[in-house]
Amino acid sequence: MKILLASHNKNKIAELQALLDATCAEAEVVSLSDIGFRDEIVEDGETFEENALIKAHTGARLGYITVADDSGLMVDALGGAPGVYSARYAGEDGNTEKNNAKLLAALRGVSATRRGARFVSVVACAFPDGRDDIVVRGECPGRILTAPRGKAGFGYDPLFWYAPFGKTYAEMSAEEKNEISHRGVAMRAFAKEFAKLKFEENNAEQ
Ligand code: IMP
Repeated sequence: MKILLASHNKNKIAELQALLDATCAEAEVVSLSDIGFRDEIVEDGETFEENALIKAHTGARLGYITVADDSGLMVDALGGAPGVYSARYAGEDGNTEKNNAKLLAALRGVSATRRGARFVSVVACAFPDGRDDIVVRGECPGRILTAPRGKAGFGYDPLFWYAPFGKTYAEMSAEEKNEISHRGVAMRAFAKEFAKLKFEENNAEQ
């Protein structure tokens, strides 16, 4: 059974494949590139849920069981910003350095106790046979530092302090991060829900 992940990101494909291997032996995860989909999907939702569903429904309309995730950073002192705009916080080009500099500037003078934040990931799955969507959410609570720490990961990782490990996301190994990260939590919740589903023979042929 082919499962489309509405992304071009090879790491995310491998991550989902590994998770489904454990819970759903017959699942083969394919990417948008694998099915020759080159159009841009306009993610103009106002919530992570809306954006994940926009992507999942695009794939389901093409006839694939489609999984999509949408994620971002929500900072308490900024009323939840950058939120769904995390990738383009400092402009459309999605420049990590500029995004991180803008975040530090926005929090200048804010005390340590008021720098709470959380990463959020929503995973949605839509089905061509019209059954109900699956929508699950994973969150990871932390705090925004005043200067970056660590070199691993991507995006806001060096600024995101996770107190239980005494490290930023960027100081964790991939395994450590996956254990507690918003995306790890959401993806595992999704895999658990997906494993409960039953599929007809002809659907499994897809
Ligand atoms: P996406 O939905 O996975 O494309 O993520 C949207 C944006 O949220 C990314 O471009 C990053 O700016 C931010 N983001 C999401 N997850 C993470 C993470 O694990 N670490 C750092 N930044 C993240």
